[in-house]
Amino acid sequence: MSARRGKPNLLGMTRRGLEEFFVSIGEKPFRASQVLKWIHQFGAADFGAMTNISKALRLRLHELAEIRAPGICAEQRSLDGTRKWLLKLDDGNRVEMVFIPEKERGTLCISSQVGCALDCTFCSTARQGFNRNLEAAEIIGQIWLANKALGRDPRGGRVVSNVVLMGMGEPLLNFDNVVAAMDLMMDDLAYGLSKRRVTISTAGVVPALKRLKRVSEASLAVSLHAPDDALRDELVPLNKKYPIALLLDACREYIAGESKRVVTFEYVMLKDINDSADQARKLARLLGNVPSKVNLIPFNPFPGGRYECSSRDTIGCFASILQERGIVTITRRTRGSDIDAACGQLVGQVRDRTRRNAIVIKEAC
Ligand code: SAH
Repeated sequence: MSARRGKPNLLGMTRRGLEEFFVSIGEKPFRASQVLKWIHQFGAADFGAMTNISKALRLRLHELAEIRAPGICAEQRSLDGTRKWLLKLDDGNRVEMVFIPEKERGTLCISSQVGCALDCTFCSTARQGFNRNLEAAEIIGQIWLANKALGRDPRGGRVVSNVVLMGMGEPLLNFDNVVAAMDLMMDDLAYGLSKRRVTISTAGVVPALKRLKRVSEASLAVSLHAPDDALRDELVPLNKKYPIALLLDACREYIAGESKRVVTFEYVMLKDINDSADQARKLARLLGNVPSKVNLIPFNPFPGGRYECSSRDTIGCFASILQERGIVTITRRTRGSDIDAACGQLVGQVRDRTRRNAIVIKEAC
């Protein structure tokens, strides 16, 4: 966003980035900590509010920089308490984010790209085509906005306790901006979320996953959806480039050396496609040597989609087969479907949807 508007946007800068910014304007690096707290802990959008900074510096910052989040253009509330916001970006594109309240936590599901360059056949975001990566400020800006909209919980804590990068887009194809935003999520001076509470979900961009291991500690979710390459090639075409064996190797590497960590494998339940008892057994064998947990996601239909959701009984049987084989399996409760806020239903508005071919996967890795 900064480049687009000319002034640097401090909202998307990590602590290190802000330190560099302050040094570049002849100020002490410790200013970064002060400004970071103002922006992310107190939600300041205006340098004038930063009362522990001299008036002269506040005025300078006002001239030199900005704090800009996306705008909110619409909000919907589900009967189950789920809230969905449509966000307006500077260039007219729109992305969505969703807040899912639960008893013990509040999860914000955020987007990382405008549309998606992958073409998973069961996902409505895929229909949108791809326009561009979100900037770091547009990614962290979603949390900044949600915290403002949701206020504090009755004990004074933050309502957003968990963040999942499971909205629109493939986060590992927007590597640098996503990593910068996750850095802020986990920085004590910003949102201070633990690594267990920040989850990045990927369809399996293997080289980027290897790189991620070196720069982030976020929890990992992988959209698997099939127990063999033939079916996964169809459902998640990225599999043709990075087949299951390579993907599972990268998953093992990602959590290597940390005894308590697991990878969450997401598996969308598609009637008569990937939901048989045989496929469950195959999946259990496949995951046998990856410390893992499985999240079964009832398929959420969308207009023009070609699949149906598996029945409750079928999902129950599938889950039992995995559980009998020692795999922790959770069936995700569908939330917010009355406002199209459930998994795979986020669409936003993508201007110029034709850029799918323009994203070079190798470049992003
Ligand atoms: N690109 C990333 C994150 C976005 S999708 C990824 O692939 O993981 C977030 C999750 O929702 C993924 O597991 C995805 O497979 C799932 N999903 C997509 N469409 C869905 C649908 N129609 N019903 C249920 N889950 C869906």
